[in-house]
Amino acid sequence: MLISCTTKGCLKTSEAKLDRSSDEVICEECGNPILGITPFMKKSLQSVGQVLRSKTKEAFQALCKNCNTNRPLYLKGKKAYCKMCNTQAMVSDAFMNGLKAYLDSQGKE
Ligand SMILES: [Zn+2]
Ligand SMILES: [Zn+2]
Repeated sequence: MLISCTTKGCLKTSEAKLDRSSDEVICEECGNPILGITPFMKKSLQSVGQVLRSKTKEAFQALCKNCNTNRPLYLKGKKAYCKMCNTQAMVSDAFMNGLKAYLDSQGKE
């Protein structure tokens, strides 16, 4: 289901996804919430499975000092490293536990 973005400078049509935690519809192109989506549209999105799943993934990114941006991480031993440049990321224990559970749920590669 294609939805037109309402964000200035984007205005693209994409398979926007429903974010159930915030009840917003998020543009695939720019990541901003799209305004003016009716509850009916949201229900339709949910019924076709056009629902945001990357939320958890994004939650387990952390700022990499080397890349100077948020990066996905991987675990080695008891430490987390940037997937892009292999620099160790400084994250809290709570973050590590969440990341570990998340990676386990994704299955081992
Ligand atoms: Zn957009
Ligand atoms: Zn990095």
